Amino acid sequence: MAKPEFDIVIIGGGAGGLVVAAGGAALGAKVALVEKHKLGGDCLWYGCVPSKTLLKSARIAHQMRHAERWSLSPSDPRPDLARVMDRVAAVIKGIEPNDSPERFRGLGVDVMFGDGRFVAPDAFEVNGRRLTARTFVIATGSRPTVPRLPGIDRTPYLTNETVFDLREPVPALIVIGAGPIGSEMAQAFRRLGSEVTVVDVAPQILPREDPDLAAVVMKQLAAEGVRYFLGASILGFEGRAGDVRVTVRTADGTPKVLAGSHLLLAAGRTANVEGLGLDAADVRVENGRIVLVEGLRTTNRSVYVIGDALGGHLFTHVAEHHAGIVLRNALFWMRWAQPSTIIPWCTYTDPELARVGLSETEAKKSGVAFSVYRFGFDDIDRARAEGETEGFAKIITDRKGKLLGAAIAGPHAGELIAEYALALSKGLRAKDLSTVIHAYPTLAQINRRVADQRLKEGLTPASKRWIQRIFGLRGART
Ligand SMILES: Cc1cc2nc3c(=O)[nH]c(=O)nc-3n(C[C@H](O)[C@H](O)[C@H](O)COP(=O)(O)OP(=O)(O)OC[C@H]3O[C@@H](n4cnc5c(N)ncnc54)[C@H](O)[C@@H]3O)c2cc1C
Repeated sequence: MAKPEFDIVIIGGGAGGLVVAAGGAALGAKVALVEKHKLGGDCLWYGCVPSKTLLKSARIAHQMRHAERWSLSPSDPRPDLARVMDRVAAVIKGIEPNDSPERFRGLGVDVMFGDGRFVAPDAFEVNGRRLTARTFVIATGSRPTVPRLPGIDRTPYLTNETVFDLREPVPALIVIGAGPIGSEMAQAFRRLGSEVTVVDVAPQILPREDPDLAAVVMKQLAAEGVRYFLGASILGFEGRAGDVRVTVRTADGTPKVLAGSHLLLAAGRTANVEGLGLDAADVRVENGRIVLVEGLRTTNRSVYVIGDALGGHLFTHVAEHHAGIVLRNALFWMRWAQPSTIIPWCTYTDPELARVGLSETEAKKSGVAFSVYRFGFDDIDRARAEGETEGFAKIITDRKGKLLGAAIAGPHAGELIAEYALALSKGLRAKDLSTVIHAYPTLAQINRRVADQRLKEGLTPASKRWIQRIFGLRGART
């Protein structure tokens, strides 16, 4: 059999594919990268980067309006969406060179643009060129799911792929979906001056999260004026540019017509696995998802799938983590290297909601014996100084205090959760967090204080009495 031309051929140059390409080339592998559109993927062009940039401008606008919270004179920033979106575009442009074809070609990667397909289990064809490789990596990402509901094909709608192109005012936005993307966009547009209505079939926002944590976010968004129709089913869409209507059946069964100027679909993601010739490659797909045999390997031993194309946890850091696993599996034959199950994530609303490991809801369902501890930001001095006391941290432990999960709804939750990601990945106990010195006054103190709750619980009246007896303490009179 002829020697394959490449060590690795990657299909899709987004968050995951680019890490495989750069890592593979740095390790001396011969790498080809095939991209259908432009390098950078969702994260750079239509996802993390534009959404977080938009949220920042929205947050500043909100703080200006509510400056009295910090004893300053409030002012109305009168946001101009076109200018704000120009800033979004500028931030993307600033990051783009990191993901440019020139950079990757400079690293030694053979970058090709085109819409190719597998033509055999060991060959991918693009622009008439047949690429053979020892390892193929499918990193084609995902796209917004368009709900197949009456009228959607006749109604103008936005998705994450078009919303950041907006330059006209958005007087009234209807958002379909109250997950992370829908919630972030709802708050951003509301703070930038739009009327915002959110519709979801789920009974709560951020349905993956515990209801008490999601409620912290929803309380804030509702207070800012976001209108919610939760537990609602959509009966149909109609309208034209600047005038859209969504007919819903509300949670109590009442039909209602919602009117807006713009419609944003944020109702889930679909993996990009079609049109790749996966049949020819002997890669099995079931219910729209590529079947895994071991780790990230598909039914074809030489073909891996990573990131959003795999489904599950749709995050940039997961796609990047998968990339590292594939490099170890494919180049060093480290078959034991498997994707981690400890995945932190964050929804970047204000307040943020971050989580790692088991939620309380999941712990209940799993039947494992567990305990829950909470601590509020209102008792964290730094949060008081910042004027951001909403929310709380929660940890789930087993009966011996070993951490099973942690979640934080509050300021900078996405940064704070990192400590718990490390703690979980090292199998630590709550007391390990309690004994670590946390700088004062930081928000990170909440990580220790919530862990302290378990220590305190361990102090039963009987153990207190023993301590008093041993050390001759007099104890407080009650
Ligand atoms: C609005 C929004 C906000 C988000 N915010 C965050 C966040 O804050 N944090 C976070 O971690 N994640 C966030 N995400 C998710 C994150 O963007 C994705 O998880 C991440 O981009 C997945 O990386 P990937 O490599 O799997 O796919 P992508 O980065 O999307 O890359 C896939 C690439 O494959 C290409 N491609 C597709 N089909 C083909 C084909 N047939 N042939 C060749 N190339 C093809 C695409 O053009 C694309 O370049 C957000 C997503 C959205 C939509």
